[in-house]
Amino acid sequence: MTAPLPKASHYINGAWHDDPAGDPLPVVFPATGETVATLTTASPATRDAALDAARAALPGWRAMTGSERGRILRRAADLLRDRNRAMSELETLDTGKPLQETLVADAASGADALEYFGAVAAGLSGEHIPLPGGDWAYTVREPLGVCVGLGAWNYPTQIACWKAAPALACGNTMVFKPSETTPLCTPMLAEILTEAGLPPGVFNVVQGRGDVGAALSTDPRVAKVSLTGSVPTGRKVYAAAGERMKHVTMELGGKSPMIVFDDADLDDAVSAAINGNFYSSGQICSNGTRLFVQSGLHDAFVDRLCERLKGAVIGDPRNEATNFGPMVSAAQRDIALGYVAKGIAEGARLVTGGAAIDGPGFFMQPAIFADVTDDMTIAREEIFGPVATVFSFETEAEALARANATAFGLAGAVFTRDLARAHRVVAGLEAGTCWINTYNLTPVEMPFGGVKDSGVGRENGSAAIEHYSQLKSVYVAMNGVEAPF
Ligand code: NDP
Repeated sequence: MTAPLPKASHYINGAWHDDPAGDPLPVVFPATGETVATLTTASPATRDAALDAARAALPGWRAMTGSERGRILRRAADLLRDRNRAMSELETLDTGKPLQETLVADAASGADALEYFGAVAAGLSGEHIPLPGGDWAYTVREPLGVCVGLGAWNYPTQIACWKAAPALACGNTMVFKPSETTPLCTPMLAEILTEAGLPPGVFNVVQGRGDVGAALSTDPRVAKVSLTGSVPTGRKVYAAAGERMKHVTMELGGKSPMIVFDDADLDDAVSAAINGNFYSSGQICSNGTRLFVQSGLHDAFVDRLCERLKGAVIGDPRNEATNFGPMVSAAQRDIALGYVAKGIAEGARLVTGGAAIDGPGFFMQPAIFADVTDDMTIAREEIFGPVATVFSFETEAEALARANATAFGLAGAVFTRDLARAHRVVAGLEAGTCWINTYNLTPVEMPFGGVKDSGVGRENGSAAIEHYSQLKSVYVAMNGVEAPF
């Protein structure tokens, strides 16, 4: 792989920016454990420079028409697509996800977001409201101001684009902090945006750990914080933002149910279970990790799933034949292995996998548990690794009640050939994003986000515009002003 690395740690005001005062931030390739780059975290001076740049760029950027802003975003989408291979290689280096995945899922979906919101930008407008006596009102859709984006480590390019594209389309500026674990891709995106014609300061990237994220999201210059991360971090960031009355979007964790009825197409359901549990080594927020399978199909489902796991090609993610890579870090693998041990200790049946794989890198075998009961730890907590749990159920009402018996509410799915039942079940699911007879498809046209502890707000689709803009209402009097005295 020959993907170029970022020329410096941070990207501020349209240029690369180094910060010798920051702490070292080693970047480890998850497949070998080797350090491939060492960046630095942002010192307070660098954070300030980024926020100042974003604030200074705001008047000029918001004054442009939506069409002008949109043209730049669409140009960036084209550049991102042109550089798909280099960006995919970098994403693989950053996250350990197989190149087979990153070539189609990461920069590609980022480009989709830039293109979509580039088009949406041109159509942003307010409304005209007729009022009694010939008076009228109009609304103006205004940007919020400087937005902060905080990213998780599983989809660094996609997460940055899902936040930046609607934010910039609406006329906001942004300071983005990637996860400390995967800092390589986002500054490259910033460089591409500059090349596409984005004015300096509109999109800035600073590196750092949680303390940098906390300092950014509480800064008085910031109007909105959009976090993709875990529920515990979400609680902290939401509380801090609420204290200062900032807008938020919270894309948090999940423990989503996939309900498979006896009449489902077995192969489709198994394929969806594979995508929804083992793609990206299971490190996807919306994964359908609780597989509720009706008793008549249960054993065949478990058998077929185990059979299909033999097709996993585990190995170096740079090899395009590999379809199952390492976990992002030793720490994340240890968390997943810890859950496997807990599952066994609490009496679940480990049907296959679940062991660490010897050698360099942070590999583990994909795991399937059966005979799982709802009270077990592996049934309740987000694992964020390649560990699927299968449950048996008898009736639709039972499946729905058990599926909803969780504090999470990110996603859910139903597999059945019965059309009425499919719609009845998704109507009853307490989840922000649902699928019927498929799983984990998240096109940019479709709003995405969670309910309950899984989050607040929506990304993607026209819904995202509501979360990156605010309406100003203007009353226009066409008559004289009456007063009581
Ligand atoms: P974390 O919550 O640990 O981190 C998310 C981001 O917040 C990181 O950039 C992190 O920095 C930063 N951060 C940490 N502490 C603070 C703080 N106090 N104030 C401000 N920022 C802070 O999540 P992970 O990176 O571990 O990602 C995995 C989680 O993300 C899972 O729960 C997963 O479900 C969720 N996720 C949700 C998605 C969704 O769209 N709903 C999509 C993808 C993942 P640093 O990394 O440097 O600590």
